[in-house]
Amino acid sequence: MPQRSPPRSIATVCLSGTLPDKLEAAAAAGFDGVEIFENDLLTFDGTPAEVRRMCEDLDLAITIFQPFRDFEGMPEPQRSRNLDRAERKFDTMQALGTDLILVCSNVHAASLPEPARAAEDLRAMAERAAARSLRVCYEALAWGRHVSRWRQAWEIVRQADHAALGLCLDSFHTLSLGDDLGALAGTVPAEKLFFVQLADAPKLSMDVLSWSRHHRLFPGQGELPVAGFLTDLLAAGYAGPLSLEVFNDEFRAAPSRRIARDGLRSLVILEDRAGVAPLPALPKLSGIEFVEFAVDHAAREELGRFVGALGFRRTGLHRSKDVELWRNGGANLVFNAEPDSAASERFEQLGACVCAMAVRVDDAARIVARAEKLSYAVWRERIGAGERRIPAVRAPDGTLVYLVEDPPGGGRRFWEDDFHLEAGDDGGELLGVDHVAQAMTPDMMDSFVLFYRALLGLLPDAPWELPDPYGLVRSSAFIDGGGSVRLPLNVSESRRTGTGRFVSAHAGAGVHHVAFLAADAVAAVDAAAAKGAPLLDIP
Ligand code: MG
Repeated sequence: MPQRSPPRSIATVCLSGTLPDKLEAAAAAGFDGVEIFENDLLTFDGTPAEVRRMCEDLDLAITIFQPFRDFEGMPEPQRSRNLDRAERKFDTMQALGTDLILVCSNVHAASLPEPARAAEDLRAMAERAAARSLRVCYEALAWGRHVSRWRQAWEIVRQADHAALGLCLDSFHTLSLGDDLGALAGTVPAEKLFFVQLADAPKLSMDVLSWSRHHRLFPGQGELPVAGFLTDLLAAGYAGPLSLEVFNDEFRAAPSRRIARDGLRSLVILEDRAGVAPLPALPKLSGIEFVEFAVDHAAREELGRFVGALGFRRTGLHRSKDVELWRNGGANLVFNAEPDSAASERFEQLGACVCAMAVRVDDAARIVARAEKLSYAVWRERIGAGERRIPAVRAPDGTLVYLVEDPPGGGRRFWEDDFHLEAGDDGGELLGVDHVAQAMTPDMMDSFVLFYRALLGLLPDAPWELPDPYGLVRSSAFIDGGGSVRLPLNVSESRRTGTGRFVSAHAGAGVHHVAFLAADAVAAVDAAAAKGAPLLDIP
């Protein structure tokens, strides 16, 4: 039986903007609660009581107040001062209306390497917290001076033996050290698991503090086994909120609403993968059916001349729209000049560009249901009588991904229902679309990674760094299990690289090349050259 989804929470530190911006973005995305990061409270021009009211108005619980640093195992006089500091934090918590505070393991040079002292101090803090009906949870920082593993933190919590003291587990701190929660069930009683923080990250070789502070990602965007972490945690009986705690320089500069929505999606996917709330299954993909360009009549004529030299012929006219099909063998291009359409919207913004692509899926309705569960916008273009409804999902940059079903047993295809097709359109040397490459800014890359992974199940191939004369381009191809859909995503920090200039001109992201598959590529190029195609000089 699927369990009920746990409450979903996000730390304010994940998002950009002022504290009210962050809270609004979290609520709009559908989170149940927020972790109030102390720094966000300090820079907010208002009282904790106002923050409490804002959260109440937005129907957001404050799941935890964090972090309280360098508390345990300090010599006197810091020890007594720390207990006084704790009382001031408790005042703030009561004004905020939250009962839980996070203490992360001490990194201070003067802290003592004595678990018994740490336990004694945390017990003293828990005793004071309990007097106000508050609770304390203790988290092992991966770079803690004496405590860096959850087992060490648990040993201290166990020794302290106070009902108001428990553990906070953080997937980054655990998984970045190559550790796991495999032994959690049977070691830590469920009632001692007070809180969990989830984050993913790319595998990087750098010091763990910098890695954590700048490169954390939402689950599913990186390479850490976060789903296994959650499975182990739930097996140990954890029943509290699932909270995202991601420190990422790009996220903190990107629009907070987009990042908050991606955060919520990452939890939905994680819950699916951990078996908490299964999503409609991923599609079985079988290639790219067409690439669609937004054009006006002048752009269409120019593009037609260009692809004509590549051996494409206009082989179809849409029955009810100003849309043409150009075909070369198995490769289909759609030129869309229909007014008041998703394509015309794109054309008005950016001029002629790729505005959509279509992937062949086994069951479009199931993928639409999956998209809706992931809060991706589903687009349904208006259709004429007798035409097929081809659903599409909006990608993070506003382009569309159409979901085309391959009819079983080579049945009637949508082209025949929607287009007046020229007879005898076979021939042409291309076998299909090989890949569609997109250029984007670094923060858009993370949104796209989540989109392609979550919706289509595409996984990244090994990353490449391509030297451009004006900077580096990072490239990673996202591929489905069968290898039929391949989408390289390219990112450049430099605005002067080809990729960077393209991204600036395309408001953040866009398709910058389409590659076709040919049985004989050299023959296809020779044929294109003979027809006068402008070939790229390669030294
Ligand atoms: Mg943490």
